[in-house]
Amino acid sequence: MTLPLCRHCKAPLPRVFLDLGHAPPSNAYLAPERLNAPEMTFPLRLRVCESCWLVQTEDFTEADHLFDADYAYFSSTSKGWLDHAARYAAQMIARFGLGADSHVIEVASNDGYLLRNFVAAAVPCLGVEPTASTAAAAEALGIPVLREFFGEALGRRLADEGRTADLIAGNNVYAHVPDINDFTAGLAAALKPEGVITLEFPHLMRLVEFCQFDTVYHEHFSYLSALTVARIFGAAGLRIFDIEELPTHGGSLRVYGCHAGASHAETDGARAVLEEERRRGMDGAAFYTGFQARADAVKDGLLRFLMDAKRDGKTVAAYGAAAKGNTLLNYAGVKPDLLPFVCDAAPSKQGKLMPGSHIPILPPSVLNERRPDYVVILPWNIADEVKRQLADLAAQGTRFVTAVPEVRVG
Ligand SMILES: [Zn+2]
Repeated sequence: MTLPLCRHCKAPLPRVFLDLGHAPPSNAYLAPERLNAPEMTFPLRLRVCESCWLVQTEDFTEADHLFDADYAYFSSTSKGWLDHAARYAAQMIARFGLGADSHVIEVASNDGYLLRNFVAAAVPCLGVEPTASTAAAAEALGIPVLREFFGEALGRRLADEGRTADLIAGNNVYAHVPDINDFTAGLAAALKPEGVITLEFPHLMRLVEFCQFDTVYHEHFSYLSALTVARIFGAAGLRIFDIEELPTHGGSLRVYGCHAGASHAETDGARAVLEEERRRGMDGAAFYTGFQARADAVKDGLLRFLMDAKRDGKTVAAYGAAAKGNTLLNYAGVKPDLLPFVCDAAPSKQGKLMPGSHIPILPPSVLNERRPDYVVILPWNIADEVKRQLADLAAQGTRFVTAVPEVRVG
């Protein structure tokens, strides 16, 4: 077999970072009437480039099947995320003096959860969002939206039309673009000479530190360090001048970029993160060795807990039918005999089955009826919020469990 090539620097990729076997796409929730149909699975394998240290999914054939045209996630359904967006907008307006003469572009603007704050502050803005249903929701808020994928061609067109930006925001899109070079070239093309780019993405350093292998899924193409992003930026004529560490998604970075020749001074925050990554060896092979064994230990711990609970006659349910739950349950091979149901507050998922594991998804009210001995909270990043919501259950004796970075029974 010929080796796959790095999405950024095109070097061959002999080094496997993590292999989670085959799995269905993480958002391919099944309607019960589809249970007798075949289910598509794809290899879920990450490689790391020994030249630029980009951790990335492997390309595979028939990737078009990955994206369900009917599936759309509306960012505004999460209160915590709306608050995060409002704080971001206020910060950017204050720090970079944005006003009526400025122009803000958000790539992957979703349902307008972020740009609505710029509209409210009378800062002209433009969303880029290919998904029709979320783009329509943003337009209803008065946000102009280009219903397209972002890349170099669109960036150049915006420049030709005199629509370059003082601020380009990309929250949780950078790790999800298949062609990161083309996307970055688009950012450079659409940016004014003194403009600022901010990108938020989960920090690979935390993924490894806290063994968050369940955040790996097919649509999450790149797993990024600041060091690697600095290289990708450099190749597009951009540079990083500031970095903030954020608690979102188990530890994210917000990277601030500008044109290589712009006047923004490098901050202590940027230097500190880059230095910490070097100290941990993220620019060398050792950092990327041994992750598989740690992921396997987490998987084994979850299976041991579920099998012990079954043997002891205890009842177990799960909460949160999120993507990371699908990665974990499918890698562990958990089926309804060990985990009979999962509850989720999203009506669009209720009544369906988790892809691969075929565990039914029920409304959270079922937990109060059945009062299981244990509730496994699959989205560990919002475990505290879930525990608060389910406090009544805990008062009646239910115990909460999280599986990552190791099985913990609260
Ligand atoms: Zn590379």
